Amino acid sequence: MQSPLTPLQSWLTHHQNNTHTFFCVCGAVVDIEGSVDGFLCPVCGSDDYSDYDEKPQKIWKEFLTLDAVGEDADGFFVDFYAVVPNKEGRELQKRRYLQMILPKENRFAFDKTYLDNKSYSYAIYQGEGRVLQLAKLLEDKACKLLIEHLLRQKPSLEWVRRSELYKSSSFQKQLEILHFFFVTGFRELELFFWNREFFEFSLPNATTQKELLEFVANSTKKGVKKALFTNYLHTMESIKSYNPLVDYLFSRLITNDDHLKKLYALHPLLKKELIRAYNYEAAKEFVEFLLTHYSQKQIVAYFYELTSTSRLNLFLDTVSLLSANPQIYEKAQEAFERPKPKASSTPRYPRRIWK
Ligand SMILES: [Zn+2]
Repeated sequence: MQSPLTPLQSWLTHHQNNTHTFFCVCGAVVDIEGSVDGFLCPVCGSDDYSDYDEKPQKIWKEFLTLDAVGEDADGFFVDFYAVVPNKEGRELQKRRYLQMILPKENRFAFDKTYLDNKSYSYAIYQGEGRVLQLAKLLEDKACKLLIEHLLRQKPSLEWVRRSELYKSSSFQKQLEILHFFFVTGFRELELFFWNREFFEFSLPNATTQKELLEFVANSTKKGVKKALFTNYLHTMESIKSYNPLVDYLFSRLITNDDHLKKLYALHPLLKKELIRAYNYEAAKEFVEFLLTHYSQKQIVAYFYELTSTSRLNLFLDTVSLLSANPQIYEKAQEAFERPKPKASSTPRYPRRIWK
């Protein structure tokens, strides 16, 4: 009996009446009657096999696997197969046990489907008591396979490959970088370090830092654009990432150029945490609410006070409270009273976290 499939490791299966089937890695399939002690493959002489009836084998000496890489309209995928005996142990079958999909969207995360609920518990024995979880091994392998696929199939990513930063990254990071530039079509490495949530906003047809910053600034005035660009460069230099959502919001609500420039110059670490996609709408409503009662100058002063941790948390809590209960605004508008200035004109705040 010759199987059309060749296993990637040899298997021995057992049947009733003390008969067995040996599937050799060389392709030979041999039926054995009686004891299997001292059995050698009649074709290649191998005596190294895994006993299939010991499944589920939590630890396989080597988990050898076939893989298929490809893509469709929605994502890239890697399928992992094993060639294993069927239930009765008389034939081999190709069994897909894990599919990993990387969607073609801004979010970088694998969707994993285990088709055999046992496979996630497999581990690979690496000798000297070391065991590697199969899932981790396969995720690394999927990254490598998809990197090769992207570089082979997408000439538009050739420029990324030449970048020093790309070369010095882990496989996972390399794939994340390639995936990002494939999805966005951007061609400037710095944009990889922008807050990804911003790209989920409906952007104009902008593909460079300059074009995107002009969109953030929302102004034709040279002074405003220059202030934003200067603070952007400072941010990238100091914290190596940029959250455009804060500047985006201020650009749309603060009409006085001088006050707007001061808000652009808020500390980069504060801006990183202040406004995110999840609270953007609520933060916008809150600032609009403040603008109905305070001057733009006072708004600037308010945001500069958020550099203390407790004040920042108060801002974030207020925004999330207002977002959960929008009716509070109506009550707040009716009952609003500007607090009277305190006798002490220099309030003391807790320890500042950023200087
Ligand atoms: Zn053999």
